[in-house]
Amino acid sequence: MNVFEEVKKYVTAKQVAENYGLKLSRNGMVCCPFHKDKHPSMKIDNLRYHCFGCGAHGDAIGYVAQMFGLSQYDAACKIIADFGLPVETGNSISEEDKKAYQTMCMQKKYAESVQKRFSSWVNETISQLRDCENLIREAKDFFLRSNTTMVAISNGFAYMLHQEPKIDYWLDILCTGEFEEQRQLFLIDGKEVRRIAANVKRAGDEILGRNRQCAG
Ligand SMILES: [Zn+2]
Repeated sequence: MNVFEEVKKYVTAKQVAENYGLKLSRNGMVCCPFHKDKHPSMKIDNLRYHCFGCGAHGDAIGYVAQMFGLSQYDAACKIIADFGLPVETGNSISEEDKKAYQTMCMQKKYAESVQKRFSSWVNETISQLRDCENLIREAKDFFLRSNTTMVAISNGFAYMLHQEPKIDYWLDILCTGEFEEQRQLFLIDGKEVRRIAANVKRAGDEILGRNRQCAG
C-alpha cells in the first residue's frame, strides 16, 4: 500500500474538507471553494468531491493539493501532519511514486529556471532596444541641426534608419505581445536582435561621439 492509499484509509474527503474550513450541509452539498459559488454546487462524500459548477474533482488528497497548491505527495504529507496520522512518508512510498515525484520536482525546477532566464532576456532586450531608439532619435536631431555630409556618418545613419522599424516592431512584441510571440522572437531572432542592437549602438556612438567632438 502506498502513502496515498494509506492516507485515504484514515481520512475521508468529507473529513478533510471540513478540517480545512468547509461547512457541509446534511446532504453533502456545499459552496465550492474553487470558484465564485453563490449556491452550493459542490458535492462531497467520503470518497470524493465534485463541483457541478467548475468541474473541480478529486479525492481527499486532491482536495488538499488543489486547496493549497501542493503536489499530490506534499498534500498527502500535509494531511499526515495535520491529522497526526500514523503513516510513514519516507519508506512506505513506493519506488515508482518516488521516481514520479522526483521527476515532477525536476521538471518544475527546470521550468522555473527557463522562465527566469527568459524573463531576464526580455528585460535586457527591452532596455537594449530602448537605448537604440534613443540613439536613433539623437542621431536624427544631430543631422537636422548640422549640414554634415560626411560619408562615414551617413552610412551609419542610413543603417540606423533602416533598422528603426524592426526595432520598433521587436519592442512592441516584448512590451505588449503575447508570450508565444516573445518566445518565437527569442528562439528565432534572438541572435539577430543582439547583432542589430550592437550595430546600431556602434553607429550611434560614432555619429554622436563626433557630434560631441565637433560641438566641443
Ligand atoms: Zn467549483
